[in-house]
Amino acid sequence: MSKHVYADNAATTPLSRKAFEAMTPYLLTDYGNASQPYSFARSSKKALKEARAIIADCIGALPEEIYFTSGGTESDNWVIQGAIHRNMPVITTPVEHHAILHPCKYAASIGHSVKYLPVDKTGTIHEKDLDNNLMEAHQLVSVMFANNEIGTIEPIQELVSVAHNKGALFHTDAVQAVGHIPIHVKSLGVDMLSASAHKFNGPKGVGFLYIKKGIEWPSLLLGGAQEQNYRAGTENVASIIGMAIALRENTDTLVQNQHHLASLEKSLLQKLSAANIDFKRNGSDNHLPGNMSLSFKDMNGEALLHRLDLSGISVSTGSACDSKNPRISHVLQAIGLEPEYAKGTIRISLSKANTEEDVCKIAEALGRIIKSAL
Ligand code: PLP
Repeated sequence: MSKHVYADNAATTPLSRKAFEAMTPYLLTDYGNASQPYSFARSSKKALKEARAIIADCIGALPEEIYFTSGGTESDNWVIQGAIHRNMPVITTPVEHHAILHPCKYAASIGHSVKYLPVDKTGTIHEKDLDNNLMEAHQLVSVMFANNEIGTIEPIQELVSVAHNKGALFHTDAVQAVGHIPIHVKSLGVDMLSASAHKFNGPKGVGFLYIKKGIEWPSLLLGGAQEQNYRAGTENVASIIGMAIALRENTDTLVQNQHHLASLEKSLLQKLSAANIDFKRNGSDNHLPGNMSLSFKDMNGEALLHRLDLSGISVSTGSACDSKNPRISHVLQAIGLEPEYAKGTIRISLSKANTEEDVCKIAEALGRIIKSAL
């Protein structure tokens, strides 16, 4: 059987070997609870301190601005629940991940003010729309850094400056961006930023929330005094160390990864065009490296996913679940993609581990499947 091609890296990534090796001592031998005062816990405590410093350095933050969480979903919930607690109206976008949209839906259901900014056909948010919607200073703006489905990178620095001019706080869900494109929180000016380790070759179930020094944000999880009294729960030391090592590794190879992915993308798109396949690529030109949302005319995304799976290729779909009646995702609806294309959408998300051989295999399989369906 030929080699499996994994092309769903926006869903999750494999754990880096370096991260795995750095994690094992904290699972097997140095397992002390980092909050305990005795010498056996010293190694866990030291590991947490080092991990915090590495992560802070990778995103241009101070170590004390990094709060470890169980992942992107918790970080995002922490932000929106905090806004509810603070009675701060929320301005967000219709293309966010459900980890933002669902807490926002809950907020609205209890009478909290939530507004959604318009997006253009590429999924981009424009400064003027944020400016027009910011009516008061006591507000929280939450706009994702990069879209998980279509890869569009938002103009975060410009949006932060609009929000700050009106006195609002700015959060960004950077789960898809951290470890993939350069991020410096101080240059961007963001007040809060969510990240998740399993999207950048770290372990699953761990992430962090950056909270700018001086911002007193209400806690989500109450209990012990961990994370400067802001996030209760015994620290997941091994995973936190794994996250830091993976982020360091990805940050150090960011530019070469970007070049590699740009060349694979170009090659795949050329091969599909050369095969005379009718498709559109969604999202803006300023997109996440390797993230390709492709919509094939008069196809069914779910069926494409399963046929590719039978050919040993893992991708994701842009239209969910029911193969007889494909539902168009909230992101594709928000960008107004024509239904004849939207229904036939798949997301191919490549990583540094993918090769030209993988791309040839994907293009060949797609060509064969689409021609046989016509
Ligand atoms: N935000 C975005 C943009 C995501 O892509 C994801 C995961 O797909 C999440 C949040 C949720 O992160 P996690 O899986 O760590 O809970």
